[in-house]
Amino acid sequence: MKKIVTIGEIVVEVMATQPGRGFLEPLALVGPFPSGAPAIFIDQVGRLGQPCGMIGRVGDDDFGRINTRRLAADGVDVSAIAVDPEAATGSAFVRYRDDGDRDFVFNIRHSANGGLALDAAGRALIAGADHLHVMGSSLFSPAVVAATEEAVAAIKGKGGTVSFDPNIRRELLALPGMRAALTALLARCDLFLPSGPELLLFASAGDEAGAVAEILSGGVRAVVVKRGAAGADYHDADGSFSQAAFPVEELDPTGAGDCFGAAFVVFWLRGHPPAETLRYAAAAGARAVTRRGPMEGASTRAELDAFLATTQERAR
Ligand code: ATP
Ligand code: MG
Repeated sequence: MKKIVTIGEIVVEVMATQPGRGFLEPLALVGPFPSGAPAIFIDQVGRLGQPCGMIGRVGDDDFGRINTRRLAADGVDVSAIAVDPEAATGSAFVRYRDDGDRDFVFNIRHSANGGLALDAAGRALIAGADHLHVMGSSLFSPAVVAATEEAVAAIKGKGGTVSFDPNIRRELLALPGMRAALTALLARCDLFLPSGPELLLFASAGDEAGAVAEILSGGVRAVVVKRGAAGADYHDADGSFSQAAFPVEELDPTGAGDCFGAAFVVFWLRGHPPAETLRYAAAAGARAVTRRGPMEGASTRAELDAFLATTQERAR
């Protein structure tokens, strides 16, 4: 089986339990939950039984341990997650607005994550891997951009594949060099997994069809557009199709895109046809939102099969 690796931030997430209030006054919070977009992604890969590993950095503290223990328990190779004795594990505080949008307070660059670089353990992990998944939100420092570029070159050099989820956060897009790093990644990836608005950010065409055509002609093999409760679309050189979302009760939307992407990459690498791959991905995304906590709703293969056997897609 092909081994999937990812690189990037590991954080704990603490979330407000009531929407509509800012962080300017005390409010009820829950957490810490293990989190960080690439960590959620790789945890879902591990739960699906695919060989996988993560390159990251945590502090020597309980926030780090709840992450490495969870990932290891779900089958993720944590040998390239370094422990920094001098810095604390990163954190993300999230609160939901009344319209469902989210605001984050991130502590990533100034946490243990800020020292993330490719060391011997990371290079060894990549040397044994077949596929690299990169999240745009992980490119939070020049050192991580350089490490990611080296990892992409190493995987491509051995005939492996790359998937890229821009996962853009307003708070991170403002960082210097972020846009250039994202554009460079798009040019090298095989699978591109944006949301609808992110798709338009990556093309000169102002409409989605034009943007998809532009990106496919640039060498990307497949574009998968995520639309939350409105489902997802798949595009490759042979054509396009849609997958409606599955009706679920949304408790916490964080992590849906990461679990969706993980299931997509796993079934794609296993050689399932695109429509079946997209259906599994949509099931993983739907199940992810039914649990509070970013990776608490990650699914096993048996859970996805049971869900698909009993749940009809929402009519479009
Ligand atoms: P994020 O980065 O916040 O995790 P995203 O934009 O990457 O989000 P979404 O579009 O929110 O990803 O979710 C990915 C997929 O998961 C959707 O395309 C859909 O198939 C499924 N999904 C997400 N939210 C829901 C929901 N409320 N009900 C059913 N399916 C959902
Ligand atoms: Mg996302």
